[in-house]
Amino acid sequence: MATELAVETERNLIGGQWVPAASGKTFENRSPADGNDLVGVFPESDRRDVDAAVAAAKKAFPAWRDMPAPRRGEILYAAGEILKRDKEKLARLMTREMGKVLAETRGDVQEAIDMAFLAAGEGRRLFGFTTPSELSNKFAMCIRQPVGVCAFVTPWNFPMAIPAWKGMAALIAGNTVVIKPATDTPASVVALARVFEEAGLPAGAWNVVMGSGGAVGDPLVSHPDVKVVSFTGSTEVGRRISVACAPTFKRVHLEMGGKNAILVMDDADVELAVEGALWGAFGTTGQRCTASSRLLVQRKVYDGFVMKLVEGAKALRVGNGLEAGVDVGPCVSERQRESVAKYIEIGKQEGAKLLCGGEKLSAGDLSRGWFLSPAVFADADAKMRIACEEIFGPVTTVVPIDSLDEGIRIANSVPYGLSGSIYTQDVNKAFKAMREFETGLFYVNSSTIGAEVHLPFGGMKDTGNGHREAGIAGLDVFTEWKSIYVDFSGKLQRAQIDTYESAD
Ligand code: NAP
Ligand code: MG
Repeated sequence: MATELAVETERNLIGGQWVPAASGKTFENRSPADGNDLVGVFPESDRRDVDAAVAAAKKAFPAWRDMPAPRRGEILYAAGEILKRDKEKLARLMTREMGKVLAETRGDVQEAIDMAFLAAGEGRRLFGFTTPSELSNKFAMCIRQPVGVCAFVTPWNFPMAIPAWKGMAALIAGNTVVIKPATDTPASVVALARVFEEAGLPAGAWNVVMGSGGAVGDPLVSHPDVKVVSFTGSTEVGRRISVACAPTFKRVHLEMGGKNAILVMDDADVELAVEGALWGAFGTTGQRCTASSRLLVQRKVYDGFVMKLVEGAKALRVGNGLEAGVDVGPCVSERQRESVAKYIEIGKQEGAKLLCGGEKLSAGDLSRGWFLSPAVFADADAKMRIACEEIFGPVTTVVPIDSLDEGIRIANSVPYGLSGSIYTQDVNKAFKAMREFETGLFYVNSSTIGAEVHLPFGGMKDTGNGHREAGIAGLDVFTEWKSIYVDFSGKLQRAQIDTYESAD
């Protein structure tokens, strides 16, 4: 199991060339499930590599922008087909480098496929609009235009899906890209770059620079030739990026943390709610921005829900995600596991009841990875830190509630606003919750996770800064609207002035 593929020494992709970092330095990436499994060796880049990549993206921009969008779409269709062909191989690589189980890494690659086909189809749409002018013999229309060089800074939890959400939308609109992947998951982004290469994407349209947030991310987002920054990651880093981008007024798209609540009402199908809560809380080892980390349960069904939830959490098999039958992989790194373990201690000190899990697992092969058993805290108070702060690990917190109004108030009481859900059989409750949750995503009788690529994705409050990705809304981040007026009257016509004079 340890080394399925030969260890690759990877390079940055700059202007169509695979080149080592200017520093000549490299860093290792090992599997979080097995420290003996060296996934690859990657360039440790800095500002010099960033400058070269941005210059390459800038040089490639005019030709890519001027290529007819349907032709750009054909390249993305080809990329989607290659991703389909290589889905299993890519999923296995991703499980090795990131840890989540194969079923989920297949889903991650599938999201990239879906996004490729969605964006490719946009090549024959990219709709603008026409509208009547207020003056005679004058034509008015609005078109989308690409913005220029885009910088992506991406996290490790969706190593291919998130770069693909951003990338497919930016490319179909005619932009060029420099991406800095998370240090924990560079291999999946290198693999995506190879897919684009094989699909026939011109040199310089997609550039990859690997290295740390400070040495690569920082100079990349503040580079004056970068016109759009699209970031997914923590609220803390997002805030820093927002500040770094302000002096040049560049467009900044931020997708950040979450603390998502499921409401379970007295009339809910409890079995279904438990199933959804388990999947939402422990899928991806809880390392999802949309994880169901708060379970707000009405009193009548509370005890039964908690009992079944704990039963289900204990039954989850923790292990190497490459193995059949494993439900929950490791935390992505030692640092991440330490951070989650700290929250387990905080929860105990705050007085919530730890009903299961929260232990570092080290029996047998598990000693080689960063495993933690799925933890359920119950009888928690909504104001406790474990019920308000993003933990980003296999931990969920159950809080009893008396009413729908109380549930909605608690759900909205955190600074984040990404996803939410309600389990109820009552359509009136469902619609009230749908309207009142301060979140960009909402689910009825389903967990807080499960977004599809043709709907906008993103959050409110400290989760986002008003943009969305995926769907058609995702194009707004990567295009400028241009309003165009064509006057074919042969005379000077003054808007607002002649409009009314000629009517008299
Ligand atoms: P993170 O620490 O904020 O890192 C995200 C990315 O930012 C990484 O590529 C990181 O590089 C880079 N970075 C770090 N410091 C930087 C700096 N000073 N300047 C520029 N870039 C910098 O987040 P993470 O731990 O990877 O991911 C977990 C977080 O992402 C969670 O908060 C989660 O909720 C959020 N997330 C949100 C969404 C969403 O759509 N809302 C989706 C997935 C994840 P290094 O890897 O080198 O540190
Ligand atoms: Mg690693």
